[in-house]
Amino acid sequence: MSKAYEIIDHEFDCVVVGAGGSGLRAAVGMVEAGLNVACVSKVYPTRSHTVAAQGGINAALGNMNDDDWRYHMYDTVKGSDWLGDQDAIEYMTKNAPAAVYELEHYGVPFSRTEAGKVYQRAFGGQSVSYGKGQAYRTCAAADRTGHTILHTLFQQALKNKVRFFNEYFALDLLMDDEEGACRGLMAYCLEDGSIHRFRAHQTVLATGGYGRVYHSATSAHTCTGDGNAMVLRAGLPLQDMEFVQFHPTGIFGAGCLITEGARGEGGYLTNAEGERFMERYAPTAKDLASRDVVARAMTIEVNEGRGCGSDKSWIELHLEHLDPKVLHQRLPGISETARIFAGVDVTKEPIPVIPTCHYNMGGIPTNHLTEVVAPKNGDADAVVPGLMAVGEAGCPSVHGANRLGGNSLIDLVVFGRAAAHRATETVVAGAPHKPLPEDAGEAAVARLDQTRHATGDSKTGAIRSEMQRTMQRYASVFRDGPTLEAGCKRLGEVTSMLDDLQVNDRSMVWNSDLVEAMELQNLMAQAVATVHSANYRTESRGAHAREDFPDRDDDQWLKHSLIWVDGGFAADVDERPVHAATLTNEVEPIAPQKRVY
Ligand SMILES: Cc1cc2nc3c(=O)[nH]c(=O)nc-3n(C[C@H](O)[C@H](O)[C@H](O)COP(=O)(O)OP(=O)(O)OC[C@H]3O[C@@H](n4cnc5c(N)ncnc54)[C@H](O)[C@@H]3O)c2cc1C
Repeated sequence: MSKAYEIIDHEFDCVVVGAGGSGLRAAVGMVEAGLNVACVSKVYPTRSHTVAAQGGINAALGNMNDDDWRYHMYDTVKGSDWLGDQDAIEYMTKNAPAAVYELEHYGVPFSRTEAGKVYQRAFGGQSVSYGKGQAYRTCAAADRTGHTILHTLFQQALKNKVRFFNEYFALDLLMDDEEGACRGLMAYCLEDGSIHRFRAHQTVLATGGYGRVYHSATSAHTCTGDGNAMVLRAGLPLQDMEFVQFHPTGIFGAGCLITEGARGEGGYLTNAEGERFMERYAPTAKDLASRDVVARAMTIEVNEGRGCGSDKSWIELHLEHLDPKVLHQRLPGISETARIFAGVDVTKEPIPVIPTCHYNMGGIPTNHLTEVVAPKNGDADAVVPGLMAVGEAGCPSVHGANRLGGNSLIDLVVFGRAAAHRATETVVAGAPHKPLPEDAGEAAVARLDQTRHATGDSKTGAIRSEMQRTMQRYASVFRDGPTLEAGCKRLGEVTSMLDDLQVNDRSMVWNSDLVEAMELQNLMAQAVATVHSANYRTESRGAHAREDFPDRDDDQWLKHSLIWVDGGFAADVDERPVHAATLTNEVEPIAPQKRVY
């Protein structure tokens, strides 16, 4: 190990990387069960992207109309375009009501109905009685639901004495190659520049999505998918990386999100002719069709010359017909966002919007217990000992090819809780740690050192911008063979720009130049994974819309993609079966049908 870096050792029963909704929920549950838990986060917990979630969290509470978790399951399977694993979807939708009541009891200040119950709004792709009418299933705290959930879970974590390592940047996993097991991780403390080695019986990756591979994204600048990249560097695959959700209503230019709840409360979209065009594309659900459907319709409208503005480049979202009281009570946050970022008073004029990268359906493959899986000796579901993944980083896979609005927040808390349950079963509190290989962590420190001393001519920001523009151009809402091929090629050139990386700050204390460079290395691996997976899947399903293969092809493609990306950014793609069976006989598997709204 380089003498220049002193290593500080820690031992915990479990280490959770990430303090968003999923990481905090996992950590709280583990401590409650008597385990000794560290939570490592590169930002102060309440700055995690979960804080930005607006619209709400889905659970079939039935406070506004009759509801059943089986309807929620049906909608989620249909929303996933049948790529979701039905055992995991059953688990999530069945456990959703208990998870929301738990949040309520922890202290989340949900909006209320007149009768004092948790308020639930309409969201896209959600029905009652298996597609027969609009469901009101999305529990909301005005349009600041994620904010309230994150702060409440953080308070619970403080109360339970989770050991926080805030502003520590996780570098890499500690893998025991002999057993193929994870034994913990390495991290860099931003405050004083020290390097830390965490040993743990279970390491939980709760590092969020990687939206920042695109130029226009609703996600925070910290959403760089670091956990996903650590998994790739550990020689493990990621799953379904071709499926990227474009949210229909990002503010044109700025990219900030206007929640689907705006349409749930009665908002609607129009083109340059003032036409409510969604009536043509989704006659029943209209503006509340699933996100992929609305994003494609908007893109077609713009591409066919019916966009608004002098450049015909956006679509308008109308809220001005709504009662100002509703806007004030239910949508105060987005009213403010529209004023600041679009200069629009929503009580008087429409908001210019455009589909914007919002969510990553793909990620680290896990079973419904949140244990990471990777193929081994012919077993597609072989568990990687000591490693779990939850939240947007994980792929259990409940969202399949397209996530429904409100289904991520519920995924965070249901599977955060599941990770805690599973860790309680698999870890004996205080058990001694297995010996680490002599060189444990050396590669991670060497990479940090090399990056810190990079002397090329290309600044991180310049390379990142090239990558983001490449992704935006070649792997966006619509895709086809020639564009994807060109995208793979162009991205190959962009990855080689990393050989010419320039880092100016050589210090170790709060070296954000270094951190951004390492985040870029992480993003790059996922950009490669996304484009190559998209090129591999020659069908259209959910958010993956190919103009050269416009139909879903269940004979060929009702399966997950797996992708490995090595240190030189070479990609290798394989497949894994979809779990079409349910977990119990409380519900029947839902056979593939044509997906119409
Ligand atoms: C604007 C916006 C609005 C949304 N609205 C909704 C909604 O209304 N309903 C819904 O269901 N979903 C919504 N989503 C999606 C949902 O909010 C996210 O998918 C979810 O919050 C992700 O939570 P998470 O726990 O996986 O991670 P995040 O909240 O993204 O947190 C990631 C954590 O990992 C840590 N981390 C990452 N890398 C490292 C590293 N290298 N070292 C140490 N720590 C690291 C970070 O510090 C952070 O604590 C929205 C998303 C956005 C962007």
